[in-house]
Amino acid sequence: MQEFHLRVQGSAADPYDVRFVSLDGELYASCSCAAGDAGQSCKHRMSILDGKLGGVVDGESFVPVISHLLAGTSLDVAIQELGAAEAELERAKKAVSDAKKKVARAFHIPR
Ligand SMILES: [Zn+2]
Repeated sequence: MQEFHLRVQGSAADPYDVRFVSLDGELYASCSCAAGDAGQSCKHRMSILDGKLGGVVDGESFVPVISHLLAGTSLDVAIQELGAAEAELERAKKAVSDAKKKVARAFHIPR
């Protein structure tokens, strides 16, 4: 088991404690922010997994290592599924916007 402890400056005065654990080819993580405490995903962990150093005040050198450890894990698959769902949502939003414009054009009374 490999464990990485980082500290990330968020909206609170004190930086959040972010912990990544690599175990049996899987990657797990916790964060002390409100979302993390509630068992939800949070931008602090996602940002580190993206290899971004923004806000990281301690453990910067772990970021590329953690980002590398993500590949092929169940977490990686879940994040890719989220990305696909978000892309699908964007396509649906565009389709709704286009359909509303079509309705607006169809409302137009000819002179
Ligand atoms: Zn967090």
